[in-house]
Amino acid sequence: MKELIVGIDLGTTNSEIAVDLDGEIKVIPIHGNPIMPSCVGIDSAGKLIVGQAARNQLIAAPESTVLSIKRKMGTDEKVKLGDKEFTPEEISSFILRELKQEGERHLDQAIHKAVITVPAFFNEQQRKATQLAGELAGLEVVRILNEPTAAALAYGGGNADGETMLVYDLGGGTFDVSVVTVEAGVIEVKASHGDTHLGGDDFDQLLVEHAVAAFKKAQGIDLHQDLKTLRRLKVAMEQAKRRLSDDPCVTVREEYLDGERHLELELMRTDYEEMILPLMEKTLICLHQSLSDAMLGPTNISKVMLVGGATRTPLVHRLLQNRLGLDPRFEINPDLIVAMGAAVQGGVLAGEKRHSILVDITPHTFSTGILSDHLGYRRVECFPIIPRNTPLPASKADLFTTCYDDQISVEVTAYQGENVLPEENTLIGNFMVEGLSEVPAGNQVIIHFDLDLNGMLKVTATEKATGLAKTVTMDTRGAHRLDIDQARRNIASLVGEPGGASSETASERPDHHAQLATAKDLRKRAEGLLQKNISSEDAAELRKLLQESAEAISMSADLTDFNEALSDLLFYLED
Ligand code: AMP
Repeated sequence: MKELIVGIDLGTTNSEIAVDLDGEIKVIPIHGNPIMPSCVGIDSAGKLIVGQAARNQLIAAPESTVLSIKRKMGTDEKVKLGDKEFTPEEISSFILRELKQEGERHLDQAIHKAVITVPAFFNEQQRKATQLAGELAGLEVVRILNEPTAAALAYGGGNADGETMLVYDLGGGTFDVSVVTVEAGVIEVKASHGDTHLGGDDFDQLLVEHAVAAFKKAQGIDLHQDLKTLRRLKVAMEQAKRRLSDDPCVTVREEYLDGERHLELELMRTDYEEMILPLMEKTLICLHQSLSDAMLGPTNISKVMLVGGATRTPLVHRLLQNRLGLDPRFEINPDLIVAMGAAVQGGVLAGEKRHSILVDITPHTFSTGILSDHLGYRRVECFPIIPRNTPLPASKADLFTTCYDDQISVEVTAYQGENVLPEENTLIGNFMVEGLSEVPAGNQVIIHFDLDLNGMLKVTATEKATGLAKTVTMDTRGAHRLDIDQARRNIASLVGEPGGASSETASERPDHHAQLATAKDLRKRAEGLLQKNISSEDAAELRKLLQESAEAISMSADLTDFNEALSDLLFYLED
């Protein structure tokens, strides 16, 4: 039997264990869960408990429970557990022993060796303490691995020479960013920066303050002195925060919050993002610092890897994309990536050559069409709801508003593709929602995309104020079939067989693709002209035609007349 070297992420809040089994990386469940709280306790019978069981008694028995021991590693500070004192290495060894024993039970095989990860900024003493903890747990620690290096390994780092990667690690209590390079097969952390007091817990705290202020305003009661209620609010707001990663708004209901009165609070993702923006800016400052320490700029970075639960916040992705032009990778579960990378290293040390981390992701972005102002005219653009590389199944929603007063219907469209222009993407399906309230423009409609492992996309549009909803399920695999149909028609036109010219939909009309190509070319030229010095009457005429052509494209209408009109005007203007 081949030697087994497991990979362990010994985290401040949670720990995980993974292993390379014949080239495939598997995360081992601990007490049925891939993530185990890094929590150690003594129960009421005096028995040692580790993981979720210890976490459960944290509030009821804080004197018999230890959390976040990682912060004390490498110091002489002892912690009390019941009536005894323990060193940080001893407490950590209880966590490692639990992971080892659960791993052995699951694999039905003894585990003797491990690769254990530590933050890049850990000093020699902290690393030695980690090694000692492993030995106390009965493990030979064959390698202490930097966490960002492990993340890079999980994403296939080391396969391509000359790669420079960035690891953005935002957990519950800490933030780290590292620049990692691969040269001659060696992965090296070139620069690392961070803030040991910045993470998801701070986001929770901002939401708690927001809720306390709302309760004071509505009920006139200040909850600041009521520690028990504040703890309850923290739990509720942490859950709301997680939901805001997938939904544009959530409602928090806490009954009898102060023993008498209820809290009902609606949170919008946009407001929440405004609250956390100053903290997010701090992470970007660290990021720039580590890039400048490594004497690099954003354009030198080939991959950005996200680590830590709080990187599921959509604002993290947007800021990295919009501010730095970086396209973050998030297909590997950010809670498990470090342990998986450690398992890759364990596999290499055990002589394994092939590694694969299999994740089901969507290789395409799924968007909905929205009306948007562009160069002074309105056109339909694709607004991404499920970005490419999202792990499946995926469920995401966003909020949109009506454009006109008394607008009682909206057309909901779903596109697959990366372009902002619908005509460059593939239309998956569309439907109308009728019967909206007759209210001024700005009526809010939530559009929810659920994409399952089989490629079925369930699209739901809900009028926020009334709950009026319509759901349609679309088969995204049809998007590929269209190309096959087109190819069949092309072949049929050559060999003279009936080619399906009677198809009902525009995208299947034989000349539609040619019309679309002409329209795209004309529109590009027209938009180029709009940026030049042409008279305001000509610009207005051009915008009108662009608008009409955009509408015709979005409705998959016959484009002959629109193309002709645009071509005539361009002929005259370009002369
Ligand atoms: P970690 O230290 O890596 O385990 O990350 C824990 C932090 O991630 C906590 O603050 C969690 O509230 C946060 N977190 C977990 N899931 C999500 C999510 N879906 N959206 C936003 N934050 C999350």
